Amino acid sequence: MRTLVYGLGESGVAATRALIERGEEVRAADANDGERLRETLAELGVEGDLAAGPEVLSGTDRVVVSPGVPPLDPVLRAAHERGILVVSEVALGLELLGPGVRVAAVTGTNGKTTVVDMLRAVLDASGVPNAVAGNSWRALTGCLEEVRRAGILILEVSSFQLHYMRHPGFEIAALLNVRPDHLNWHASFEEYAADKLRVFEDQREDDLALVSARDPIGRNAAADLAAEVLVVGEGETAIRDGSLLLRGTHLLDAGELRFAGLHNHENALFAAAAAERLGAAPEGIVAGLLAYGLKSHRMQVVVEREGVTYVDDSKATNPAAVVAALGSFESPVVLILGGSEKDTDFSELLPLLGGCRAVVCQGEAGPRIAASLEREGWGGIVYRARDLSEAVAQAGSRARPGDVVLLSPGCASFDQFDGYAERGEAFGRLVRGLACGRGSVGR
Ligand code: ADP
Repeated sequence: MRTLVYGLGESGVAATRALIERGEEVRAADANDGERLRETLAELGVEGDLAAGPEVLSGTDRVVVSPGVPPLDPVLRAAHERGILVVSEVALGLELLGPGVRVAAVTGTNGKTTVVDMLRAVLDASGVPNAVAGNSWRALTGCLEEVRRAGILILEVSSFQLHYMRHPGFEIAALLNVRPDHLNWHASFEEYAADKLRVFEDQREDDLALVSARDPIGRNAAADLAAEVLVVGEGETAIRDGSLLLRGTHLLDAGELRFAGLHNHENALFAAAAAERLGAAPEGIVAGLLAYGLKSHRMQVVVEREGVTYVDDSKATNPAAVVAALGSFESPVVLILGGSEKDTDFSELLPLLGGCRAVVCQGEAGPRIAASLEREGWGGIVYRARDLSEAVAQAGSRARPGDVVLLSPGCASFDQFDGYAERGEAFGRLVRGLACGRGSVGR
């Protein structure tokens, strides 16, 4: 079998190395060209093509594709037309892993990283060996031996990775939610949802499927799933009167947790349900959750100053994540929205805008978002700012004691930054700068 690894980012490099190690015939290619890619190819020591087009497929039996490559890419389209098998790097990793490893796969539009991180924390607190890989974590093909030793893999899978996966058959599959996002990659919302639902494909009766009661896509699919289904937020596994219940057992009170927000408390229940299945005892689950702190740039309090709390939720890159954030505060919010343009519809925010003192729209998508909110009658609280720096100054001047200034942009960051983390760091610096009287206001 001759494999072409297409896309030479971290996962493509790991996949190429894993195939070389197994003595397989492998060729590497990337649609782009440049110094770094040339170095990568040289380090790998395989035959390769940069600035590659469909000609690179000649003699190829299958393509291992990196998550960043869109399906309309000419090489992928040609592979499809010629009937050449295309698999994601995660799919290759699962194949190379072989049997004997228990897999808990987590997907969803929002909350994947958090649930994976919580599950790891809970298993660690319970003394259950585990290894984490996939999507925002390291490439699976780069840590196969460690995963085999651990015997349990917590796998974060994106819709891209599920799109190019054959016969997943996960012992535990969690679908947190499906909301509009990445529609610049997928042909339609329906296709995106279908890819997410593939997480349940090939599950057997004795496997476990987790869905959310608040997510219509997962909820509706539940009846037709082969595996045992646990609906988080319904029946015995839910948050009732502030208590987190897992299959009817009281785990802890939400107020004892170090993180806020109904969505995060439900994330904790997803992690708890998966952990229980993997052998964690209730004491370990409770200890793990009680000690857990959210990862950076997710609803993170940066500073409290003159009665105003500044919160960094830079990881909120779609409107559904903003809705979850807004739903977590009882105090008035000065919301900072905007970033790079994905043409996303922000109307799902409308029912929550009553809780906002002001909405500052900034960055490339700022003017469009501001105009759409104004059209819906929210002009009185909508302000425009050129960039994040201006937006923070605006927000600081609008906030009153007791308010929350929330950066939950609902957009990716690439108009001004290299990623959500850099944007969150910049927010932190700007907010601390406000304390020293720096920053300028504009409109
Ligand atoms: P992902 O890995 O899916 O991008 P993260 O855990 O990094 O998810 O969180 C991304 C954003 O989504 C954050 O702003 C976070 O507050 C929000 N979020 C986390 N869990 C949920 C959820 N269950 N529903 C909606 N939003 C969520």
